[in-house]
Amino acid sequence: MSLSVELKDLEVLTTNANQIQDDVLKEILTLNANTEYLKRFLDGSSDKELFKKNVPVVSYNDVKPYIERVANGEPSDVISGGTITRFVQSTGTSGGIHKIFPVNDKYIENLGYLLAVSSLITSKHFSDKIDEKGKKMAFLYNRLESKTPSGLALSSSFTSYFMSDYFKNRPSKCNSEYTSPDQVILCPDNNQSVYCHLLCGLSQREKVVGVSATFAHALIKAINALQIYWKELSSNIRSGHVSEWITDLDCKNAVSAILGGPDPELADVIEQECSHKSWEGIITRLWPKAKFIECIVTGQMAQYIPTLDFYSNKLPIVSMVYGSSESIFGVNVDPLSKPQDVSYTFLPNISYFEFLPIDHEEDMNTIVDLVDVKLGCYYETVVTSYFGLHRYLIGDILQVTGFYNNTPQFRFVRRKNIVLSVNSEATTEQDILKGLASATLVLESSNSMLTGFTCYADISSFPGHYVFYWELKAKDVDDVVELDENVLEECCYALEESFDALYKRLRSKEGSIGALEIKVVQQGTFDSLMEYFISKGGSVAQYKTPMCINSSETLAVLEDKVIARFYSQKSPPLNL
Ligand code: AMP
Repeated sequence: MSLSVELKDLEVLTTNANQIQDDVLKEILTLNANTEYLKRFLDGSSDKELFKKNVPVVSYNDVKPYIERVANGEPSDVISGGTITRFVQSTGTSGGIHKIFPVNDKYIENLGYLLAVSSLITSKHFSDKIDEKGKKMAFLYNRLESKTPSGLALSSSFTSYFMSDYFKNRPSKCNSEYTSPDQVILCPDNNQSVYCHLLCGLSQREKVVGVSATFAHALIKAINALQIYWKELSSNIRSGHVSEWITDLDCKNAVSAILGGPDPELADVIEQECSHKSWEGIITRLWPKAKFIECIVTGQMAQYIPTLDFYSNKLPIVSMVYGSSESIFGVNVDPLSKPQDVSYTFLPNISYFEFLPIDHEEDMNTIVDLVDVKLGCYYETVVTSYFGLHRYLIGDILQVTGFYNNTPQFRFVRRKNIVLSVNSEATTEQDILKGLASATLVLESSNSMLTGFTCYADISSFPGHYVFYWELKAKDVDDVVELDENVLEECCYALEESFDALYKRLRSKEGSIGALEIKVVQQGTFDSLMEYFISKGGSVAQYKTPMCINSSETLAVLEDKVIARFYSQKSPPLNL
């Protein structure tokens, strides 16, 4: 299995979006006409109008019983006309629960296609800046698959791709586009793989033109690993031997071959750069030819932009792809756009996409087709996939920002339903990110920077209040974080000042919301939080720090590590 992908295909797809979407729906309905699920509504018909009239818009709980029946061994045609060969599992960090979705090779092919298109687009945009033999240092991770009760493979979407022939035979492989050999990506022990990714990246430092990961968090994790291991990494490079604790033999042999032999000069350079007091610009100092950082920084990941800017001396950050366990959605055709301006052009050949205007949630008649969305309007995506999801609400709110040929482009606005509320106010993800941007400006006057955050609506006492868990790190490596009370209280206030009018009214006039609290947690807490989610079945590649916490078990992980607390000292002014 291999994919041949050319950029001109993207032009054809986006120019003919309307026809392609109609064809996709027809194909899906014909394929699934006789499934138990669809028969109830369509009685074998593949008519679009009937589909729109009869098939209900659903959420996970509506289809879960059907999905679970197939996972437990009933035939695929309970929900899908095509044979289900595996399940993908969502990280659960964006909605709180792990969901599983039936798929087959076509899903993996689609993911391979998305990654190949995105790689062609980045190469095109950076071709004048990078040398042809340049490589990406990509922090990609794999996990062991588990099995459903019926014995079908269950894994994250990325693991399903890495384990497939599409990855093995990917078009870019012959140019060895990554500094790491596939054995490092495939190693299921993520500690060993991050170490080996770094070792391969350091030993080929002159070739690295881009530093990449799926989500921004994985890149921050890699820099943290570099801070822990740089002495050992440089000693491996000095001696030409990989550390004993790298026990995955395929991985170790492949990395040893890349190291070649001892390289004391390179080891000296690494030691010199890493022993600087400040790690500002460490990425460009260690990898001087790096021209871009590639990872998703839209949505929840926006919180990591200042830290990435700090480590990379503000290299352009490119957010290329948008997808989920349910379906691939789109690609960014303009990689050089600023993180806040990034839009994703939907790929009309992947699934049938409809859009529910968010102001008309109750009225299903207002659902529109992909090509009928209106510029500037906000929608929630509704997906009909090849594998048994019909008119399924994804839970992401998007805004239409433009059109590429005839296909709309969307900005990721926020995850639906992830809001903080202790009273009648509803603080959205967007409000939180806005608040965080102004609080981190206040924090700049101190010696520390924010490396992780999440929040929680504490209603255990009255009035309820918002709690932000912050992990801080000194800007200079050898410094310890100084917790300046005034600065942190100002940060609390800056957060509150960014919230909406109702929050401010309830907080100020009516005393119905208590003062916002920042709880500073020990360093490493957000890594522990990630490990906690991974232990529950998540994957490192897909992990996103949950923006809000709503389970007591997760809270306990954080509460254990709180080292200081600060409260807002005054109510924010009312919006006039
Ligand atoms: P999962 O199914 O665990 O991979 O999570 C998918 C969810 O991650 C999506 O529904 C989005 O909420 C989020 N996500 C994926 N890609 C992006 C992106 N490029 N920008 C913002 N959020 C994203």
